[in-house]
Amino acid sequence: MKGLMMDYQLTLPTILRRAESLFGHKEIVSRLPDKGIHRYTYSELIGRTKKLAEALRAMGIQPGDRIATLCWNHSQHLECYFAVPCIGAVVHPLNIRLSPDDLGYIVNHAEDKVIIVDEVLLPLFEKFKGQVNVSRIIVIRHSAEPLASGYDAYEEFLAGGDELQFKPFEGDENTAAFMCYTSGTTGKPKGVLYSHRSIVLHAMAFMASCSGLGVSERDVLLPVVPMFHASAWGFPYSCTFVGSTQVFPGPYLDAESLLQLFESEKVTVTAGVPTVMMAILNKLDEAPAHYKLYLRTMVIGGSSAPRFLVKSFDERYGIQVLHSWGMTELSPLGSTAVIPSELQHAAKEQQYDYAMNQGLPAPFVEIRARNEAGLIKWDGHEMGELEVRGPWVVSSYYNDPEPTGKFTDDGWFKTGDIVTIGSNGCIAIKDRSKDVVKSGGEWISSVALENALMGHPSVLEAAVIAIPDAKWMERPYAYVVLKKGKDSSPEELKDFLADKFARFWIPEGVELIDAIPKTSVGKFQKSALRDLYATRNPHTDV
Ligand code: ADP
Repeated sequence: MKGLMMDYQLTLPTILRRAESLFGHKEIVSRLPDKGIHRYTYSELIGRTKKLAEALRAMGIQPGDRIATLCWNHSQHLECYFAVPCIGAVVHPLNIRLSPDDLGYIVNHAEDKVIIVDEVLLPLFEKFKGQVNVSRIIVIRHSAEPLASGYDAYEEFLAGGDELQFKPFEGDENTAAFMCYTSGTTGKPKGVLYSHRSIVLHAMAFMASCSGLGVSERDVLLPVVPMFHASAWGFPYSCTFVGSTQVFPGPYLDAESLLQLFESEKVTVTAGVPTVMMAILNKLDEAPAHYKLYLRTMVIGGSSAPRFLVKSFDERYGIQVLHSWGMTELSPLGSTAVIPSELQHAAKEQQYDYAMNQGLPAPFVEIRARNEAGLIKWDGHEMGELEVRGPWVVSSYYNDPEPTGKFTDDGWFKTGDIVTIGSNGCIAIKDRSKDVVKSGGEWISSVALENALMGHPSVLEAAVIAIPDAKWMERPYAYVVLKKGKDSSPEELKDFLADKFARFWIPEGVELIDAIPKTSVGKFQKSALRDLYATRNPHTDV
């Protein structure tokens, strides 16, 4: 017997309609390239979104066409997030931190028809413009300089759209809406194609208070995570759904600018990778009384959040770090470490221990993990590669010439992350499969060593790689950056680890360096460290 409920398609226009009818008075705030502040209401956002949608339709954009953006986080980018899918086309944010060659490759691979570019990013676009074939280049202006020929100004283009003609997409909820390429840390970037349905369900899971992030209308949210990185972890869609005030930092992601914006806009929730949050902590520590903050939650993901970060923000500033795990391929929410009821009244130290895990899978995300012996036990000890499935998990990459290895025979996605799973279902990421140190048949978690090193009072950053070893196959090796004005030595750092780990876990070497190279999304770039090691130790093969 069929249920007798309406066939209501989960599409992005439903989010837009809800925001329009309930939250028209709420604000969207953006930091501009000249450092000024732009603010307008949801009503204005939605009116302009409708115009942009109709202007795109009028220029001949068809359902399924891809529209690229090369933009920082700001209100016009949010307009694109909605306008493009609302006419059945696909919005495709480009990662501005990739090389021009990779960007050219991605635009061609995605066959983007139009590109919408921040004027301040035109110099980057011009580096790969010659490699791509887009039919229209629309520039979000920030200056009064004349625009070169061949470029259209965003405001004039948008003004050509008739808001009253707006006919939102009414097709199948499984239609593609958003495209995002992995950052290509291994091999060529791969295209992941989110659907209307996956985005709407993901936005809802974000709000589920059990293991989502609990974002609500009362929040003022500032995503530091870029809108070109896995849709800023879905915040723009979730926040529009619930009507939070949204604050966008534009091109200014340094700690000082962010802290100023946290204070002036009374931001309550922010989100970003650990490296950005470490910079914020260091800035705050320089002058703890200087900023009046309203932050209640700081969502940290993208790499493992070191314990000292969780503890310092809570103890010194009353900010709760919510650790979340995700991947571009998961839209990206996979799990969050919300303190469970049994630890609600536990000692803080116990809560920090829990918060360092990646936590319980989000609703609708199913997990399991396997090693060479098969599926691992959920005992918090056995390690294996995490596999997932769910309504916002990739089922295949876009137009992928090498579709090997990422999916199991029964259709689960292989994350490449090495985890343990506790009896309660709590995930702890121990490593990426390519970074775990396989020493004499045992697996050593590079992440655990890094977190311990970063708990040393003199250490700013630490990254551990596997180096080849004739006897043990691989051994851990640590690169460490010291805090300004602090002192330590490789020997002292090894001693510091000695009472925390079994002897064979202690790094073969600890080397002090000036900075750890970062990837395009601000993570430690271990491939560069492996290269560094290989250059300095030419007789080994990393
Ligand atoms: P890329 O694969 O290019 O780094 P993603 O942002 O999709 O881009 O990265 C996903 C990966 O980041 C995960 O597979 C995992 O290894 C790592 N990651 C994400 N969140 C966390 C976290 N909270 N703790 C540890 N690792 C994380």
